[in-house]
Amino acid sequence: MAVRIDGKVTSEEIKEEIASRVKEIKAEGGKIPHLAAILVGNDGASQTYVNAKVKACEKVGFQSTLVMLKDSISEDDLLDEIQKVNDNADIDGLIVQLPLPKHISVEKVTAKILPEKDVDGFTPANVGRMALNWPTYISATPYGILELLKRYQLETSGKHCVVIGRSHIVGSPMSILMARNDNPGNCTVTITHSRTKNLAEVARSADILIVALGRPEFVTADMVKPGAVVIDVGIHRIEDASKKSGYRLIGDVKFEEVEPIASAITPVPGGVGPMTIAALLYNTLLAAEKKIYS
Ligand code: NAP
Repeated sequence: MAVRIDGKVTSEEIKEEIASRVKEIKAEGGKIPHLAAILVGNDGASQTYVNAKVKACEKVGFQSTLVMLKDSISEDDLLDEIQKVNDNADIDGLIVQLPLPKHISVEKVTAKILPEKDVDGFTPANVGRMALNWPTYISATPYGILELLKRYQLETSGKHCVVIGRSHIVGSPMSILMARNDNPGNCTVTITHSRTKNLAEVARSADILIVALGRPEFVTADMVKPGAVVIDVGIHRIEDASKKSGYRLIGDVKFEEVEPIASAITPVPGGVGPMTIAALLYNTLLAAEKKIYS
């Protein structure tokens, strides 16, 4: 039976490490890390995510600022708001919660964030630094996966890693990170997508299978090599009358089928998902301590 890679426990450990570093900074009379979040509009899910991030900041002892803007705000006015945060020396990290209203260009907004404060790691400068293996802010989901592989001491060097999905936020950065000359890394990587032929066969050749395509229970046991490490990034809410909430969460991997043959696997929920806030806090600490751009 596979080792269950527990993202909940690991993310709590990381948060505790960050909180104890904040205590040290306070004791040394240093500057407390400060994260600003910009939320445009009143989308319920986005509000929930931003509130969770702000709450997590408070829990580890960071300062936080939430800037709430109407969804009717013009693109220019939003860019001005970002500039204000860029210019505010007290703020170390800035995130702009996505999605944005349709009349606003995500590219323009992302490019406006000062790379030094881009703790989501989305700016072209930081994505480029990641590809070059320079110090950078690695975006939340890829950071979470690397940290799980590292903390569970799962060997990656020389392994064949297959990534399913090539999105800018998960599949594409994951493929770059796993191929870098680093630990975790040093894999031979195959990146796959909706045009890939013989996907099941390619997946079956993976020692490490990272699944991020957004299709519920797409990866079945016959697509997995016995002994492979399986990282499931997908999250889907499906109706379940037996649950109090009326739903349950499942991933892109058919867990019950794959767990018995894998050597290690992330569950959904409780795998990759909980790591994302820990990643954001970690990047904010790096920003405050000027560890990336000195
Ligand atoms: P996305 O932007 O929709 O990208 C999906 C990728 O999968 C695309 O590259 C697409 O190929 C590929 N794909 C779709 N159907 C395929 C198929 N049948 N065979 C092979 N490849 C296929 O998705 P995403 O943002 O990366 O998210 C993926 C999943 O992860 C979603 O369930 C999302 O909710 C979840 N997610 C979870 C977290 C977390 O914190 N746990 C974070 C982010 C995302 P093409 O490029 O050819 O279209």
